[in-house]
Amino acid sequence: MESLETILKEKVNNGFDGFRLEFQPQFRAVDGSLYGAEALARFSCRGYGVVPPDKFIPVMEETGLIIPFGRWVFRKAAEQGKRWAEMNPGFQMSINMSGYQFVDPDVTDYMASILEEVGLPKENVILEITETYDISSSDEALATLGRFQTAGMRVAIDDFGTGSAGIMALKAHPFHMVKVARQFIPEPGNGKDDPFLAAISLLAHGVGAEVCQEGIETEEQYEAVRLAKVEVIQGYLLGKPVPAADFERRYLN
Ligand code: C2E
Ligand code: CA
Repeated sequence: MESLETILKEKVNNGFDGFRLEFQPQFRAVDGSLYGAEALARFSCRGYGVVPPDKFIPVMEETGLIIPFGRWVFRKAAEQGKRWAEMNPGFQMSINMSGYQFVDPDVTDYMASILEEVGLPKENVILEITETYDISSSDEALATLGRFQTAGMRVAIDDFGTGSAGIMALKAHPFHMVKVARQFIPEPGNGKDDPFLAAISLLAHGVGAEVCQEGIETEEQYEAVRLAKVEVIQGYLLGKPVPAADFERRYLN
């Protein structure tokens, strides 16, 4: 069988055949209303079946395919976001960005031009950048973030707490949102208050960022997270990633 790398290369060069996006809903903690969606990439092919993004994104990063692929994801998510923002004007489309996309000097320009072409206001988009990519120690990455800021694009720091660079990154750039890794969901009923999420929220709010807790799977977790005063909630309990048509039927009608 051909290697996954060879297949991914073929598929990217063949109009992104086999790739699609799913969308996971995000809700406002205060009233349960729809906040937006996170776009999550999916890939399947005959030889390998369904390949999870944790497996194919690293291959794309190693081979440089992540640059055309990241553009494709951005365009598809922006097109979907345009439709949903017309149905729900405050709708926020969150799009994952690989650290490797930062070294693409044209990244800000192409994003701005896609938004212009699609007709989606930049206020309806949030770029998610993982904390494990150490933004604050790279001049190049900081420069890219600065250009996003100048262009009015908003950025979330993703997987907050799983790396070691999150606090430095928060100090170095005015992030719009902190997405807290699910390891920090307070453990219900452990007999004492869990200080982590509360402390992360305090820090995030202190720098003017909203907090999104992701990975909520149980009612008990949901209750514990609400007590920590986060703005946005996401997780299997509230809704799993689904294809666009299902998302629209369930959450926008
Ligand atoms: P991530 O950005 O941390 O995305 C959240 C992951 O957690 C998603 O997995 C989502 O399906 C899963 N998840 C959501 N709610 C729950 C929950 O309640 N419990 C549990 N256990 N998991 C939950 P997924 O879709 O497999 O994506 C994995 C990673 O792949 C993402 O992690 C992201 O880093 C990367 N990824 C996905 N799509 C893209 C993309 O378009 N571009 C880039 N650069 N990376 C992507
Ligand atoms: Ca994410």
